[in-house]
Amino acid sequence: MTTIEWTDHTLNPLVGCTKTRAKGAKQSGCEHCYAARASKSGRLQQFPQYHGVVDREGNWTGQVNFVPEQLEKLFRFRKPTRVFMPSMSDPFHPAVKDEWLDQIFAAIALNPKAIVQMLTKRPARMRDYFRTAKNRIRIAAVDMGRSTSNTDQGVLAEIESCQWDWPLPNLWLGVSVENQQAADERIPLLLQTPAAVRFLSCEPLLEAVDISGFLNSRNRSKSIVKSTFWTIIGGESGPGARPFYLEWARSLIQQCRDAEVPVFLKQIGSNPMHYQNSLVDKPGTPPWMLVEYLGYQGRGMRDRKGGDIQEWPEDMRVREFPDFSCEVISIERSEK
Ligand code: SF4
Repeated sequence: MTTIEWTDHTLNPLVGCTKTRAKGAKQSGCEHCYAARASKSGRLQQFPQYHGVVDREGNWTGQVNFVPEQLEKLFRFRKPTRVFMPSMSDPFHPAVKDEWLDQIFAAIALNPKAIVQMLTKRPARMRDYFRTAKNRIRIAAVDMGRSTSNTDQGVLAEIESCQWDWPLPNLWLGVSVENQQAADERIPLLLQTPAAVRFLSCEPLLEAVDISGFLNSRNRSKSIVKSTFWTIIGGESGPGARPFYLEWARSLIQQCRDAEVPVFLKQIGSNPMHYQNSLVDKPGTPPWMLVEYLGYQGRGMRDRKGGDIQEWPEDMRVREFPDFSCEVISIERSEK
């Protein structure tokens, strides 16, 4: 189970990572990596897959562990379920072997009820991997399907006879977009990668970002015109959370509206702010704390991550999912 609002489950067949940042960016979305912090905790250190991935200070070591047993959980879903996988690694980190990825995508191919949401900050490798992976994944899926007792024989037969859908219809691929440099570097690579659904995770959003050109090029390009798109937005939470200006989110919501892209505001973070004059959208403008803006006393919101939709300005209460796989669609709107 998970507390991440845009998914139903998390699974971690990969554990471990290293921080990265977009070229030319002053800030990194990895700076306060939750996964590294959590990996060091006693709660997770009791599991062997967390050994060796972080040092005593809670910094990633660069070691990534593959945990194939986690993939068996995909075979248990009997109804469509969103699965964020992995949440404790970057699947396209250089320490992740192609053979591991083949097994992960084979398990996804064998389990269409699992709607897998996969996110990376390293989309160049993702694009390159998928250019050559299809047949390797098929072979791995046939091996895995034959040796797993609860394989759906109909799905396995389709894969064996090459009658399977490609790109995998239950695989959503996304990139992190924390600033403009990340958008400019990663979104074009995502658009070059075949996927049933492509999504952007603008969390932690660290500045105003213009993605309108990418969203509109999506509509123009014949090769990707059929793909679905989705945008998630969120402010940073946890110790040392950096500011999240509501105007940044409002702008992204509007850009998605203009391009008819579903958008999901996950949280406004632990340090939400807004500009004194919302027409002035530049660094250095004196901020007001959101708690004052909403009329709360004190410095805190009831939800420390800013994930309670009722604590947001009304116009920002939007949680939409892509129009894909009818049984998992829902739109959550506020009830006042
Ligand atoms: S890519 Fe993700 S898991 Fe890896 S360091 Fe950055 S935030 Fe953490």
